[in-house]
Amino acid sequence: MAEELNFKQELVGVFGKPVAENPTQAMVEAAFGYHHLDWRYLTLEVDPADLGDAVRGARAMGFRGFNCTIPHKVAVIEHLDGLGESASTMGAVNCVVNRDGKFIGENTDGKGFVTALKSLVDISGKRFVLFGAGGAARAIGVEIALAGAASIIIVNRSEVRGRELVELLNARTSTRTDFVKWEGDFSIPEGIDVVVNATSIGLYPDVDAVLAIDIDSLSPEMVVADVIPNPPRTRLVQDAEAAGCKVIDGLGMLVNQGVIGIEYWTGVTPDAAVMRAALEEVFGKGDEG
Ligand code: NDP
Repeated sequence: MAEELNFKQELVGVFGKPVAENPTQAMVEAAFGYHHLDWRYLTLEVDPADLGDAVRGARAMGFRGFNCTIPHKVAVIEHLDGLGESASTMGAVNCVVNRDGKFIGENTDGKGFVTALKSLVDISGKRFVLFGAGGAARAIGVEIALAGAASIIIVNRSEVRGRELVELLNARTSTRTDFVKWEGDFSIPEGIDVVVNATSIGLYPDVDAVLAIDIDSLSPEMVVADVIPNPPRTRLVQDAEAAGCKVIDGLGMLVNQGVIGIEYWTGVTPDAAVMRAALEEVFGKGDEG
């Protein structure tokens, strides 16, 4: 007898505005296809004024979860039933998971970064310089602190934002965190193990924008990570490679947060290489990570 027919897919997606250029559908649906999961990932433009209705709609239609991107990462919280530990510490959600009918907010951005970084270095006891204090820096700062980083120097242009992140990390984690206001070229102090760009400098279309750092202060024993997914080969990635550093590009973080999201939604651990290949097709080739 023929297999029972089923035309009803499981639904997930991403809510954002603007969202048309968000590439996660290509990455996530590549994984669904590869693992024979009859699921769909919809790219949904949701106006901030309609966010509550959109979440209620997702509940009504039985969505198994959804990602949130700009501008919904904080605003979505009031429409959810609970938060995971990282999302609660950060006060931001990028991945909602339907657990037994309850919409629980998680934050996988920093977790994806940590997975990518762990492929090169053990985070425990390491000393970090983290450029930026926005959403990505917050997510990364919290996760590397929870993973046992010895110290973090937050370097940011806006002092208010930078100090807020430092206060959060010092209050909520046991990692020693200091702030340096970013003025002129920042020289990486001796003894730093990992340098992270978590600013939007270098993001398409502003691809020639250069991070204000003293390139000569990069040394081969450092790991340098960039969050910019498009283009993956930023100026920082290229300069760090030329200095002999090990490098992680923004696709590493994006793929690994996608892996964690798919695990949360489906229970299946997807093949990261399949997802990275799908993104490389969208963005052009980057570096391993
Ligand atoms: P935010 O707007 O929240 O923060 C931007 C940060 O960049 C701030 O610290 C800001 O400093 C800094 N910045 C921007 N322009 C400059 C400049 N010209 N000089 C100095 N500092 C600057 O953005 P997000 O944190 O949400 O995102 C940052 C980047 O992370 C984006 O490019 C995004 O694509 C990427 N990202 C990548 C992910 C991945 O999976 N690969 C996941 C999430 C984000 P100030 O506080 O002074 O304004």
